[in-house]
Amino acid sequence: MASRSADLQVEGLVKRFGEVMALDGVSLEIASGELLTILGPSGSGKTTLLKVVAGFETPDAGTVRVDGRDITALPPARRDIGMVFQNYALFPHLTVERNVAFPLEMRNVARPEIERRVAEALGLVELGSYGKRLPRQLSGGQQQRVALARAIVFNPRLLLLDEPFGALDRKLRETMQLEVRRLQRRLGLTTIFITHDQEEALVLSDRIAVMNKGAIQQVASTTEIYERPANDFVADFVGESNIFHGTVTEVGSVTLESGRRLLIAHSAPVGTRVGVLMRPERFGQGVNSFNGEVKEAVYLGSSLKLRVACDDGLELIVRQPVRGPLPATGSRVSIAIERESIHVF
Ligand code: ATP
Repeated sequence: MASRSADLQVEGLVKRFGEVMALDGVSLEIASGELLTILGPSGSGKTTLLKVVAGFETPDAGTVRVDGRDITALPPARRDIGMVFQNYALFPHLTVERNVAFPLEMRNVARPEIERRVAEALGLVELGSYGKRLPRQLSGGQQQRVALARAIVFNPRLLLLDEPFGALDRKLRETMQLEVRRLQRRLGLTTIFITHDQEEALVLSDRIAVMNKGAIQQVASTTEIYERPANDFVADFVGESNIFHGTVTEVGSVTLESGRRLLIAHSAPVGTRVGVLMRPERFGQGVNSFNGEVKEAVYLGSSLKLRVACDDGLELIVRQPVRGPLPATGSRVSIAIERESIHVF
C-alpha cells in the first residue's frame, strides 16, 4: 500500500459548548508519518479535538490544514480520514469482509480492486482467514482489528484513534498497542491516538501532547515529557512524582517552602520561583540526603514502593529494587538523590 500520509496543522482551535470551553485555543503540528498521542484526563477536550479534525464538529475559531490546505469547512466524507473509536461500531449484520469493503464501496472502487485491498488490509491485521465471519463471532480484540482494517483500507491521509483499546483487558491492550505501532510504522501513517492512559502514551508515541481543560500543556517526545515536564500538571499526570516548590537562594540551590534546601544542577538566577520534581525511581546515592520514617511500604513484584515521612517535613514516594524483606512501617530509613536527578521547572 503506497502511503498518501499527510501532515496536519491545527491552529487556534476554539470550541465552546455553552459554558464549557472544550477547546481553548489549541495549536498543533503533526509531521507526515508521525504518531502523536493526545493524553489528558476525562473532559480535557481530546475527543472534541479529534472531532474537529475529522469534521464532525465545527470550531468556533481556528483552522485545520492538511498538507497546507485549509479543510476546516470540508464535510467529513471528503476528508479522507480513517477512524477507530472505543466502541468499534462495526456493522453487525455484515461479514468482516463487507465491513472492511464499506469505505471502498462508498468511493465506488471497482470490485476486483475492492477484493484485493480488503484481503490486503485483513492480512495486515492478521485476520486473513476471518473474512466470512460476522462481528459477533469475533473476540473484542479481533473486532477492534477489523475496525482498524476498515480505517486503513482506503489508504487514508490521516488515521485517528479515539481510545480504541479502552474496552480490552490489559494483556490484549498491550498486544494491540504493539500491533498498531508496527502497522503505523510500516504504512507510514500520520496518526493521532487519544488516551487517558499515560503508559499507553509512552509505549506508542513519537510525541505526546498533554491536554488539560481544553489547552495543550506540553508537546514533546516521550522521554522529554517524562524527564523534563513543563509544569506541575504534566509532571503529576505522567508518572509518579514528588513535586515541591521553592525559591533559588543561591545558584545551584533551592530552598523549598518547608525550609529544606536542595542542591540542584540548574543555573536559574537567585530569587527565581521554581518547581522541583523527583521521580520515585531516581533515589539512590546522592548529595541530597533525607532521613525519615516509613509510613507505608508496598511490594510491587519488580520493585518496592515506600512512602517516607522525612524529618525535615517532606513526604516522599520512593521506589527501590527488591533486596530483602519489606521495611516495616515505622522503621527508619535514609534515602538520597543526585542533583542531576532533580528536574527543575
Ligand atoms: P473523555 O476522556 O472522558 O472522553 P475528553 O478529553 O475526550 O474526555 P471531550 O469529550 O472532548 O473530553 O469533552 C470536553 C468537554 O466538552 C467536557 O466538559 C464535555 O462535557 C464537553 N462536551 C463535549 N461534547 C459536548 C456536547 N456535544 N455538548 C455539550 N458539551 C460537550
